[in-house]
Amino acid sequence: MGLFDGTALERAVICESCGQDVKSCDCPPSEPNVEIPPDIPPEKQKLSIRIEKRKRGKQVTVISGFRGHPEQLKNTMTALKNELGTGGTLDESKIELQGSLVDRASAACRRLGYQVK
Ligand SMILES: [Zn+2]
Repeated sequence: MGLFDGTALERAVICESCGQDVKSCDCPPSEPNVEIPPDIPPEKQKLSIRIEKRKRGKQVTVISGFRGHPEQLKNTMTALKNELGTGGTLDESKIELQGSLVDRASAACRRLGYQVK
């Protein structure tokens, strides 16, 4: 029996990360044992919020101090963007919002349950 006789070997193996044939994708091998940190409730997280200057005098509001799961951070950013009506990006464990919004961002984070310094 040749190596390619069985249909099982010819069936494409689908990558769990990108949904492509694993032979044509570039994803690193999956790590099923990656430890997911337990969810830390917002009230146990103390955030600091400050203004940073970016290119061409643009100001961004940087919120740091998140210790929760990345999914929680993503949900928090979505909530903040909706509430403040501004754009935002995630940078590692920080949220950056467009504009100078310290007071409003602090109030919004408190409403979400976070502590703000
Ligand atoms: Zn892939």
